Amino acid sequence: MLGRQPRQRPPRGGGFDIDRGGKGTGMKQQTFTILKPDTVAKRNCGAIIKRIEEEGFEIRGVKRVTLSEDQAKAFYAVHRERPFYRSLVTFMTEGPVWVMALDRDNAVEHLRRIMGATDPAKADAGTIRAQFASSIERNAIHGSDSPENARSEIAFFFAASELL
Ligand code: UDP
Ligand code: MG
Repeated sequence: MLGRQPRQRPPRGGGFDIDRGGKGTGMKQQTFTILKPDTVAKRNCGAIIKRIEEEGFEIRGVKRVTLSEDQAKAFYAVHRERPFYRSLVTFMTEGPVWVMALDRDNAVEHLRRIMGATDPAKADAGTIRAQFASSIERNAIHGSDSPENARSEIAFFFAASELL
């Protein structure tokens, strides 16, 4: 779970579909992505967004933000005991990121598939991380790992009124 969140409530209403569907149900699911500071610095946002759109995702919300240390710590709180946590927080706060709420059938699983493995050395050819990541830390993109986490991660950055 995420700790201190600027927005406490999950998005409701506003025409934004909360994930009702799973694989093959024909109903949309939501997921959440961050184009990380390495992607913004290398000007790869456009190429990655193009790929995301070509994969059939609809961008329901987007903004460019610079994470505070508290925000980065809270967002990655699940990893706070891991050896890479401090370095990850430094990386994620080093410059602006683009955060996006995405909509698609089977959105969570599909985004994870096209992102590729956390370590780009292990990412399948053709995945976003194989193409754009520099290292296991500077790996271009975040994607939610479950529909529940997608909901809380979207609520961490967006008000319902910002999801069109
Ligand atoms: N990370 C890292 N070293 C590791 C594992 C992860 O620096 O050994 C960073 C990397 O940026 C990764 C993030 O921590 O994307 C979150 O880790 P997670 O295991 O959740 O990977 P993801 O879900 O992003 O593939
Ligand atoms: Mg993860």
